[in-house]
Amino acid sequence: MKEELKLLIDEIEDFYTNIRDIRIVPNAGPEEIRGQLQKYDFQDAVPVEAIMGDVTDMMRKWTVQVTHPRYFGLFNPTVHISAVMADALASLYNPNCAVWGHSPAACEIEEHISKFMLAQFGFDTEKGIANFTSGGQEANHSAVLTALTRSFPESGDKGLTELGVMPVFYMSDGSHHSFNKVAHFTGIGRNALRIVDIDEDLKIDMSALEKMVDDDRKAGYHPFMVVGTAGTTGTGVIDPLPELVNFCQKEKLWFHVDAAYGGAAVLSDKLKPCLSGIEKADSITCDAHKWLAVPFGAGMFFCSDKSVVEKTFRIGGTNYMPPAVAGTRDFYNTSMQWTRRFSGIKLFMAMAENGREGYAHNIEKNAELTEYLRSELIEKGWRMVNKTPLPVACFTHPLIENEKISTKDILSRIYSEGETWISDLMIKGKTVLRACVTSFKTEKEDVDFLVETLERIITS
Ligand SMILES: *Cc1c(COP(=O)(O)O)cnc(C)c1O
Repeated sequence: MKEELKLLIDEIEDFYTNIRDIRIVPNAGPEEIRGQLQKYDFQDAVPVEAIMGDVTDMMRKWTVQVTHPRYFGLFNPTVHISAVMADALASLYNPNCAVWGHSPAACEIEEHISKFMLAQFGFDTEKGIANFTSGGQEANHSAVLTALTRSFPESGDKGLTELGVMPVFYMSDGSHHSFNKVAHFTGIGRNALRIVDIDEDLKIDMSALEKMVDDDRKAGYHPFMVVGTAGTTGTGVIDPLPELVNFCQKEKLWFHVDAAYGGAAVLSDKLKPCLSGIEKADSITCDAHKWLAVPFGAGMFFCSDKSVVEKTFRIGGTNYMPPAVAGTRDFYNTSMQWTRRFSGIKLFMAMAENGREGYAHNIEKNAELTEYLRSELIEKGWRMVNKTPLPVACFTHPLIENEKISTKDILSRIYSEGETWISDLMIKGKTVLRACVTSFKTEKEDVDFLVETLERIITS
């Protein structure tokens, strides 16, 4: 077994250390990949060495390498090595985080890191509650269920139809589309999600929100929740959280902050002020598997009021689950999942290894490199189209605006060269480029590389 495990250790070390030499963008279609899988017909046993060889070869060749320092992409992180080790330990011991009684160590490790994060967000660690989720979507789903339970306390038993209410909730055009699915999952329906216009800073338009809530109430609907996004997925902008807090308090609406990406900024004293107001939210989504740099899937759901979470996810008795232990909490009746992987160990180990200061350093470095990227591009005639303290730069060029070259042309050149990765997106009807400094391994030379690549393509 030692020989086999050594293959794993060697691969982890080699890939992690030499990632810079690996092509970022794969260039194979499904046929080629399926071709390589043909020999696996699962009739005869294959030695682990051979399987490892095939799998690592495929993963290296045919993956957009999101852990590469020149991946300026979506919020997919480079991961801390301690978190990779943590993930292996979670697999090894395989503790089931459903009940404390079966996994006391795992549950306490999760509570411990959860309480640290609750405090970072300014929530009361006794009244508040947090748990790990598969990702941001599940955390957002938890938020909508919890908000519904507070607004319509009988709905958990009777269902909304019998209560005769028509719940509706609000988010901006820039918010995350997981809420469309969530609206469907919760049974209130996709039409219950009201999309509010964005203003010229790409933030939720407060007067449009006020008017929509007012109109809905007059039409007999039941507004129950507003989502503010702290770091939208496309443009990284932060909705006006203090204004949203005031509005929700006045209107008695649940205020959820989707900080799946931007929430990590609370760890930096420099960046934390941009999230001011988040401490007054009813609930928060923050993904450890984004800017907190641990492997998927590790989302987190935070709520300021533990009693409503307990009410939302309650089960009643079972005759097969181990009994509750006094003074502890069972995750299966305070969160969405039942059997759950020990995902909190990744954040626990990475936070312990780096400390808050280490995280702050990486987060601030990403933000500074993005400032540098912006200034370099502006100097060369590009134009920024978003404003945010977070490391997301959306930009265009006169040649793009005059339709001499399209963002798709630029991207296809970049992807065929395979040395860096950015994306594009539509903002207010115009397609622009988007680069996010997501990796703590990214250095100034990587930003220079991106700027040179863009300049070479745009001037050719
Ligand atoms: C990524 C993201 C989500 C979804 O999170 P998953 O972890 O992909 O489920 C939700 N909201 C925002 C703002 C995001 O950036």
